Parts: sequence; structure tokens; C-alpha cells
Amino acid sequence: MHSGSSGISTQPAPDWQGKPYYPISQVYRQRFGAKVIKVPVSIADTCPNRMGIRGMQTCIFCDEWGSFAYPENQDNDLREQILKHREKVAKRFNANRFLVYFQAYTTTFTQLGKLKSGFETALSFDDVVGLVVGTRPDCLSAALLDLWRQTAERTFLGVEFGVQSFDDDQLLWMRRGHTARQSIQALERVAKEAPNVDLGLHLIFGWPTENDKQIVETAKLCNSLPITNVKLHNLHVLAKTPLEELYRKGEFEPIHLDQYAHRVALFLEHLSPKIAVHRLAALSSRWEELIAPDWVRHKMKSYQAILDHIHDRGSHQGLRFP
Ligand code: SF4
Repeated sequence: MHSGSSGISTQPAPDWQGKPYYPISQVYRQRFGAKVIKVPVSIADTCPNRMGIRGMQTCIFCDEWGSFAYPENQDNDLREQILKHREKVAKRFNANRFLVYFQAYTTTFTQLGKLKSGFETALSFDDVVGLVVGTRPDCLSAALLDLWRQTAERTFLGVEFGVQSFDDDQLLWMRRGHTARQSIQALERVAKEAPNVDLGLHLIFGWPTENDKQIVETAKLCNSLPITNVKLHNLHVLAKTPLEELYRKGEFEPIHLDQYAHRVALFLEHLSPKIAVHRLAALSSRWEELIAPDWVRHKMKSYQAILDHIHDRGSHQGLRFP
């Protein structure tokens, strides 16, 4: 792809099933030859932040469930969780192929043996075509990388790092307990030592000090990293989180939908068209826990508003990618 003198790509937008971004569903379909949906499970119940290791604190936005989609089943054994959640997503998305997604808290913080046996349990299901692990950038060990490398040699293994931001001040404000440099090093280390692992990262937009320049730089940095996918979230306030306290004191104002849509469009314009996108926003599935902003409640309407914004500015992913 090449750019005109305006910095705008002269290539037509690729065929992304009518979307202005490269959807992860298309990657899965190409890779597995069928519609594939993630089944979220949890085998961890804490993380270094929650345990206060090295003086760390719970991340500012994290609810008591550690970002798990189905906290009511947190205590079920893994097989039961897979059976239950698979049934839910199979019906909802009309799919019959699945990736088991070890989602909640910091999965790699749990004992390695537990993660290993969790992999085996997940792979014992005939319709499970691979595994995805969500984790932090500072919870890697040589033994874990060995496990990932060996697993990725026999099945699809995706690892998604909760990078959230590449700005150290923002990382400090959200109490992540890791730096941008650590995120970059973690991605580079996995790419080197476990090269078959499919790497992705999660980002959050809507920080108090965030600006357009940072968003563009973040997209450019993503383009230079060994990743194949990104997941975008909007910072929102959930009940019983440190962010709720700041919000109640008037010290945090959530991003407005139009501003968020602008940031997403800007990010996508500078993002390589080869990097797949999981979703454009985190839209709350637990209504009762959402404090603000209200637009997070209205999943489809908000998603459509973001798409409309991208369309109205004649934009798409990669538009300004060199
Ligand atoms: S976001 Fe992740 S690392 Fe942060 S407190 Fe929650 S579970 Fe722990």
C-alpha cells in the first residue's frame, strides 16, 4: 500500500465484510474455515496488583471479577465452565467452532501446572480449535514461554496482553504496575522465544490526559510490534472500583461517545490494515455494575454511532497507513 502526498492511502479499502476495519471474525474464518467464537473461562482468581506485590494496587478500572465475562460461574470447574459458556455463545452467535479464552484476572499468574492442565481440558473438546490467554506484560517466565511454545506447535494459541496504554503517566494513573517499555519487551520476548504464538494487545482510550497525538503514536507503535490483533476499550466506571471513587468526587469525567468515536477513527486510520481488530469499544454486559457513561449501556446503538462517525469522515482502517 502506498500513500499520496496528503498522507492518505491511494489504495481502495480492502473487503472487510462491509466493515471499515479488519474484523477478527474474518481472520478466524480464513484460518479455521468456519465461524469461530471465543468461550471465556477463568482458572485464576487473583493477580499481582490485587495481591499488592511490590506495593501494587488494584487497577483503577478493575471490578471485583477481574474482567471476567461470567463471574457467576467463576467457581465452576473448567469443564463445566466450557460446557456452560459454549452453549451460551453457540446459541447467541450460531457457531460450532470455539477458542477457549482464559480471560479473567492474570491467567499466567496462576500455577503453571494449572494452566497446562487447563489447556489439556480445553483441547479435549472436539469443537475447540485453539486457545487464547489473556495476561499482563510482566507475568512471563521461561517455563511459561516453554509451555506456550510447545502448545503453539500443536494448536492455535493466541496471547492477548493487557497493555492498555503506551504512556507511562497514564499507566501510573491507572495503577497498572508496569511500564510501556515492559509491554514492548514482553511482546518482543514472546515473538522471539515462542514464535508460533499469535500475539495481540488490549488498549483503553479515554484517559484524562489523552490527546490525538498520543492516539496516532499508539497506532504507529502497534504497527511496529509483532502483533496480529488489537482490542479497543473505552474507559468506563464500574461499581466498587477505585475509578468510581474518583468519579463520585468529580475527579474523573468519562469520555463522550462522539469524542471516543473520533479517537477510534483516528487510531484505525493510522493502524496497519493487516492488524485485525476484535472490537471497537467495551460495551457493558453487566448493566447493574455500570456507573458511567450511560452510552456504554446501549451496545448496538453506540457501536453503530462509532461506525457512522468513521463513515461520515470517509475513513477506514489503514487510510493513513504508509
Ligand atoms: S485489570 Fe487485571 S491486573 Fe489489573 S487489577 Fe484487574 S485483574 Fe489485576
